[in-house]
Amino acid sequence: MEKVVLTVATTGAWTTKDQTPYVPLHPEEIADEVYACYQAGASIAHIHVRDDDGNPSMDYKKFEKTVNLIRDRCDIVLNLTSSGGLGLDDEMRMRPFMELKPELASFDCGSMNWGHSTTFINSPPFLEELGQRMKENGVKPEIEIFDAGMVYNAEYYQKKDIIDSPSHYQFVLGAPGGMAATVDNLVFLKNLIPKDSTWSAFGIGKMHLPIQYATLALGGHLRVGMEDNVYYSKGVLAKSNVEFVNRAKRLVTEIGKELATPDEARKILGLNKQNSTVAN
Ligand code: ZN
Repeated sequence: MEKVVLTVATTGAWTTKDQTPYVPLHPEEIADEVYACYQAGASIAHIHVRDDDGNPSMDYKKFEKTVNLIRDRCDIVLNLTSSGGLGLDDEMRMRPFMELKPELASFDCGSMNWGHSTTFINSPPFLEELGQRMKENGVKPEIEIFDAGMVYNAEYYQKKDIIDSPSHYQFVLGAPGGMAATVDNLVFLKNLIPKDSTWSAFGIGKMHLPIQYATLALGGHLRVGMEDNVYYSKGVLAKSNVEFVNRAKRLVTEIGKELATPDEARKILGLNKQNSTVAN
């Protein structure tokens, strides 16, 4: 049966306890939530951490603690962010994946305005360095596409052999300053990438569910979680990321497919499993 890789993004950089008291922010909370999502069927955990006040952070110690707590309990594929906030130091952004060697890390393939008052900077020298260091550490880039031009940036790094092909893409639809979360945009982006790529997508906020249905219909992989959306339905907060995983599992089953186990996800995405056993 055809498999769908399900990523859970439990935390993100921006979701606050004011928005939902259920978002996990501390290493123990995040690890508990990831483990529960793994048990419910998630294949990959996309990890962000926060500082002690809950602010966006790339604090290495927090990543180390979170990753070790997860690795002690399960073999879910780990995908560490390399963009845990805005305006962060380049070295801080790269240290977690260089030292903890997850199988995947995010590669945000270009810069853009972030909303109407700030910018999300991923400069050409940074991206070149990021790609090279991921390669040296056996970490596969998850190429995050917020806007169509980023697909062409990725093509440049593939041609320069900084990013290996076939590549894995994550379409981020509905970020402030990026492409809107519409089915038309998803179809457009999906048709831009090389045919041998793997891809996943999600819509932010209320477009989360329509994009999830469209992604399944188009044969993509899925991402759910409180990084992207905190409401299970209109006005109803999800009490756990597990609720999103359970719903995705139901949709995948209804369409006649199955969620991929972590090992199946490794095979589908061409990941380097040895990285997942580097723990401690
Ligand atoms: Zn993220």
